[in-house]
Amino acid sequence: MSRKEFARIIVWFRRELRLHDNPVLSQACEAADEVIPLFIVDEDILARPDTGPSRVVFLCDALAVLDKNLRELGGRLICRRGKMPEALSKAAVDLKAEAVFFHNEYEPYGRERDRRVSADLNSLGIAVRSFSSICVSEPGDILAQTGKPYTVFTPYKKVWFVHPQRTLYAVPKTINVPENVHGDAIPDAKSLNIQIDQTFDCGGEDAAMKLLDTFAESSLRSYSDQRNFPANPGTSMLSRHLHLGTISASFIVDTVRERAGSEQFLTELAWRDFYFQILFHFPHVVEGAFRRPLNKIKWENNVDLFNAWCKGRTGYPIVDAAMRQLNLEGWMHNRARMIVASFLTKDLLINWQWGEKYFMRRLVDGDQAANNGGWQWAAGTGTDSQPYFRIFNPVSQGEKFDPNGDYIRRYVPELRKAPSSAIHAPWKMTPLEQSYCGFELGRQYPYPIVDHKERRTLALKLYKDASSEN
Ligand SMILES: Cc1cc2nc3c(=O)[nH]c(=O)nc-3n(C[C@H](O)[C@H](O)[C@H](O)COP(=O)(O)OP(=O)(O)OC[C@H]3O[C@@H](n4cnc5c(N)ncnc54)[C@H](O)[C@@H]3O)c2cc1C
Repeated sequence: MSRKEFARIIVWFRRELRLHDNPVLSQACEAADEVIPLFIVDEDILARPDTGPSRVVFLCDALAVLDKNLRELGGRLICRRGKMPEALSKAAVDLKAEAVFFHNEYEPYGRERDRRVSADLNSLGIAVRSFSSICVSEPGDILAQTGKPYTVFTPYKKVWFVHPQRTLYAVPKTINVPENVHGDAIPDAKSLNIQIDQTFDCGGEDAAMKLLDTFAESSLRSYSDQRNFPANPGTSMLSRHLHLGTISASFIVDTVRERAGSEQFLTELAWRDFYFQILFHFPHVVEGAFRRPLNKIKWENNVDLFNAWCKGRTGYPIVDAAMRQLNLEGWMHNRARMIVASFLTKDLLINWQWGEKYFMRRLVDGDQAANNGGWQWAAGTGTDSQPYFRIFNPVSQGEKFDPNGDYIRRYVPELRKAPSSAIHAPWKMTPLEQSYCGFELGRQYPYPIVDHKERRTLALKLYKDASSEN
């Protein structure tokens, strides 16, 4: 007779696709004789407009790696496809599970799905348990003395740095998956009918661990000095893995904490948790501004200007380089994200939510909490935003953070031969200088689509009007 709490548990994987420091998998192995690692391709998620195809490809690859790693422990990944909550209830009944374990989600969609799934399973007499896993400090762990959530980052961060962290979970020694349990093939781009036009690294948990190793050994030391220059590989590039949980945020903290240069890097991980708790406590940010009065901004929302921004054809080289990096690679450097977001909202006067959606379609690391937080920060509508009157100048941002123009040359080949002194404002070059550098403004490369100085004045007025309407 079994001495464990359950005979058979389903570990329902959604994100958190890893074996290391996986609280759900480890606790399921402790609690049951048999464990069924299950992934269900959620048809509702596949159909959502903010589900970027590149993220689905990255996910499929991570599932293949997870299956491989589970097999090394004697287990395997069982895949199914369907709609929630029915698909999970059906699987739990078919597979004769006594309990289903999964991680806590903080996005409104995931929370509502998990609520429905739990109700269904409970009505079938199947136990449900969910565990903290995604964050270093989960939403609700850190509250202000008033008992309310923090809405300003700096005091949140101070507590985050000293808040006790959960112990890490070791990889289970073996995973006992019953022999007679079968699933569908691991999904891939072909079987899901997904086509992508971006090139990026995948590799699931294995690649994530190597990336962390390399970063901790080489770039962490200089992270603080280098992280703002988009031409340099100065940041970890771990965001896509953190989003899907092919690496554990707590494991990263444990790996880097005692190393030189870790403080600024840990601050970025604190931002990640900060935005998760904002999304959790203030889910209205999904629909609009955190500071609701700023929903009244009368954006121009010019579709032609938006399309030029999406394609990287604004005539502002740093903006165009960044948008082309996103379109080609599914990733964009953080400094560049701040520049293009400021440009969309404060130069093109386009609603930040248009940019937010475009990013979600194109980013491999697209993450509702961080993306929404980043957009609201840049647009000045968020919790801890930069004040609306601080407007990035796209030329001086380029000069400061891409001083030699290397980033621009990499993604805007039309300007490859432009000298560093002129590359950030090519419209100041004479026709002769342009032709010497192999381009002509208005032909190979556009004139600026707006005048920054004029638009800045207009933006200030739009924001002031919306703020004073209250
Ligand atoms: C407009 C805008 C949109 C953004 N959208 C996303 C998004 O969809 N997904 C996403 O993961 N990040 C987003 N960010 C945050 C940040 O740009 C990326 O996390 C970072 O560029 C990823 O590269 P990295 O892994 O090399 O970062 P590193 O500099 O190595 O940072 C380490 C990790 O910390 C976290 N992090 C870093 N900066 C932030 C931040 N400002 N907010 C929240 N978490 C952060 C990420 O998980 C990142 O992987 C956005 C920022 C802005 C301004």
